Amino acid sequence: MFAEGNPVRLLVVEDDPDLNRQLVEALGEAGYAVDSAKDGEEGHYLGDTEPYDAVILDLGLPEMDGLSVLEKWRRDERSMPVLILTARDRWSDKVSGMDAGADDYVAKPFHMEEVLARVRALLRRSAGHSKNEIECGPIRLDTKMARLTVDGATVKLTSHEYRLLSYLMHHEGRVVSRTELVEHMYEQDFDRDSNTIEVFVGRLRKKIPGDMIRTVRGLGYCLSHGGDEA
Ligand code: CA
Repeated sequence: MFAEGNPVRLLVVEDDPDLNRQLVEALGEAGYAVDSAKDGEEGHYLGDTEPYDAVILDLGLPEMDGLSVLEKWRRDERSMPVLILTARDRWSDKVSGMDAGADDYVAKPFHMEEVLARVRALLRRSAGHSKNEIECGPIRLDTKMARLTVDGATVKLTSHEYRLLSYLMHHEGRVVSRTELVEHMYEQDFDRDSNTIEVFVGRLRKKIPGDMIRTVRGLGYCLSHGGDEA
């Protein structure tokens, strides 16, 4: 169930119930935390109030069309990567979508694998990484296979440990607050408890060199290596 993955929360806005369900299932199986909306108004609201790492947005939506949703987000400086779903024969949709601030598009009907690949690429780009692997000193995370190696040896992680470590690695050298971690690790409806973060950090410290994740009192956690942090 956890073959691929990323640290991230995604939003799917698609009014076709079957397609919505297929996207949510496929992305969930790939290890992402996924929320979904079935109309433009709900989608806009979620994207406006929750910190998604990427959004998959259909253009033809009831209540508010996808283009308006996207324009509104961008006007309000919501800058998360957005992948739009367009109709195959509507090239003008692609152009207006990209003009409105979309980062990429997939034309319907699509293969789920293509959506997954494009989402991975968007997340890499937004984190400033250009390949599937992120490295930090002795640890290396393959975000395509959701696999961690420490000094070349594979180390098993639970999905929550993986999301946590991946998020910290994507923000190497920066202090990440517990609230931020909670917001990026769990689905909207999940019973969130920031104390569990401490438990996951404790477990991770046993799986990677323990001093790599530093606790910054009152602020959060910072992942780094080689003593290059003050
Ligand atoms: Ca639609």
